[in-house]
Amino acid sequence: MATLEIRDLHVTVEADNATKEILKGVDLTVKQGETHAIMGPNGSGKSTLAYSLAGHPKYTITGGTVTLDGEDVIEMSVDERARAGLFLAMQYPVEVPGVSVSNFLRTSATAIRGEAPKLRTWVKEVKEAMERLNMDPAFAERNVNEGFSGGEKKRHEILQLELLKPKIAILDETDSGLDVDALRVVSEGVNRVRESGEVGTLLITHYTRILRYIKPDHVHVFAGGRIVESGGPELADKLENEGYEAYTKGGASE
Ligand code: ADP
Ligand code: MG
Ligand code: MG
Repeated sequence: MATLEIRDLHVTVEADNATKEILKGVDLTVKQGETHAIMGPNGSGKSTLAYSLAGHPKYTITGGTVTLDGEDVIEMSVDERARAGLFLAMQYPVEVPGVSVSNFLRTSATAIRGEAPKLRTWVKEVKEAMERLNMDPAFAERNVNEGFSGGEKKRHEILQLELLKPKIAILDETDSGLDVDALRVVSEGVNRVRESGEVGTLLITHYTRILRYIKPDHVHVFAGGRIVESGGPELADKLENEGYEAYTKGGASE
């Protein structure tokens, strides 16, 4: 079983001609088959964690380690991370002009599987996955993220997740901006992938509402650039009732 291990991760960004430390020692282990939720107030560094794991050049890792089955993730290129089985869905996905969803998915699948999926079975696979996500077949011919609505972006992420079958998936605010129907469809997709038992999921979110549809095995509270508390699903219920106030008092979020 694949294991993602984050140890004492420190990350800085350049802002206003100054170097600011955003992640201040993150420790987390996610195994294939497990579902973890990271929850925390706005500005606590959740997206910074996702971008750092994705290898975004704006984020400088100044300390700590990230490994996937013992292999150093920080040293890997973005492509190598995908091939190693890491999948990262960003809070604000980028547009890829001139590349259709269908070509993008096939290129990604080819990169990850090491060979191009057979066209016949692939077309069927994509069609069925899109149907499960209530997506219009015409969507496959649109350019990646170009003019996508919030809901379309998130469905597209889950479509990738279902087709690419990563070992570890990191989903940053997959729930934000979704109406209840879209939230249900997206959550069902995450649950289907989860039932395969072959994907470890790190669900990053500010709101507790997605946790009515996806029941995490582990819940972590993120504040001030690190995990400040970990527990089971009951911790999400506590956060729903009490919010994050207890964790941000006394400047804990800074
Ligand atoms: P969250 O996702 O928990 O809301 P973020 O990781 O987006 O938090 O942001 C954490 C802090 O880091 C904020 O103060 C934010 O302004 C700062 N930050 C994040 N990314 C950048 C960046 N690229 N440039 C400058 N500051 C950033
Ligand atoms: Mg935010
Ligand atoms: Mg964020």
